[in-house]
Amino acid sequence: MMILPGSTLGMLGGGQLGRMFTIAARNMGYEVIVLDPDKDSPAGKLATNHICAAYDDATALNKLNQSCDAITTEFENIPAAILETLASSLPVRPGAKAVTITQDRIHEKSFLRDSGFPTAPFVVVRSEADLEGALTHVSVPAILKVSRFGYDGKGQYSVKSESDCQSGWQALGGNECVLEQRVKLDVEISVVLARSTSGEVVTFPVGENIHEDGILDVSIVPARVDDRLREEAITMATEIAIALDYIGVMAVEFFISDGKLLVNEIAPRPHNSGHYTLDATATSQFEQQVRALCGLPLGDTRLLSPVVMVNMLGDIWHGGNAPRWEKLLSHNNVMLHLYGKHEARPGRKMGHFNVLDRDVDSALKLARDIQKQLATP
Ligand code: ATP
Ligand code: MG
Repeated sequence: MMILPGSTLGMLGGGQLGRMFTIAARNMGYEVIVLDPDKDSPAGKLATNHICAAYDDATALNKLNQSCDAITTEFENIPAAILETLASSLPVRPGAKAVTITQDRIHEKSFLRDSGFPTAPFVVVRSEADLEGALTHVSVPAILKVSRFGYDGKGQYSVKSESDCQSGWQALGGNECVLEQRVKLDVEISVVLARSTSGEVVTFPVGENIHEDGILDVSIVPARVDDRLREEAITMATEIAIALDYIGVMAVEFFISDGKLLVNEIAPRPHNSGHYTLDATATSQFEQQVRALCGLPLGDTRLLSPVVMVNMLGDIWHGGNAPRWEKLLSHNNVMLHLYGKHEARPGRKMGHFNVLDRDVDSALKLARDIQKQLATP
């Protein structure tokens, strides 16, 4: 059954991903209700209605349930039990099963391994005792990563020797972790896709991702990798979506190491590396999220232009002052997207811009020039 424009969609989470979903949904004639505990949340401000409450607030969830025709989420840390409860009376996409697996690195990596998808070598560390002998399965250098609530490289500890395991475990608060071998990275790529209620899968063009300090810095599309790897990544991402019985938009991050693909992680939602779709594909990943949620036909993901997406972090707000936007807006092939966040903290994602050009090399060159200019007070 299709949920048609005019209906009301619920969004769990009010960050930038929720905001861009809200824009797409309202543009298509839907009402949006955002649940987020922050009264100034980026999405809440643009929604038809913002329920300002915790994600497990029973009254708020009840209100959401009664006002909405379908519910989706912008972040993976919603307790699965909440999704299950909501799903008893209306469509919740993605469902609890996919979110349960992808919100927890131990589940996620085990699911990937058990389903036959290649990953970097890892061991599960549930207790301090598990650290004993962990390095017989995984060699140094390695990374200890918390199993839950990690993002943008947070909750990770670099392990260079056996003794670092102990200090890492302490530093990460004694929480469940995976110890993952650090692999040599040729390049990182990602695939954003959507799977519909009828099981149709539509993928977006493969992006090449460059990180700085564990945070995505730029995405380059099309990725500069050979066609074989590109095709393989698309096939693997599609198989993962099917194995998760996924409905909605999801992203798969890959490492390419020694010419081989390894799955890094799965995001059960639109992804930062898919922000280029706002300007460079026929349908954006957020419109696609609306379509998948509502059981509508999926949109055209054709690339209209080579593109480079650049993240803007709070670091370039010197003394709280916004960068000089004219440096960016004076180019007629550069699009600015800001998330409406008032407080610029170092490492906080404030917005991004997309550079469209005749080829990725020219786009990347202009992107780097603008990035430098914006960083200069
Ligand atoms: P996000 O949710 O923002 O994608 P995260 O906190 O979940 O990030 P990861 O994706 O695990 O973190 O790691 C962030 C980045 O750190 C990766 O994109 C990669 O550049 C680097 N990295 C992580 N694990 C490894 C590894 N095993 N070997 C080499 N580099 C790695
Ligand atoms: Mg990641």
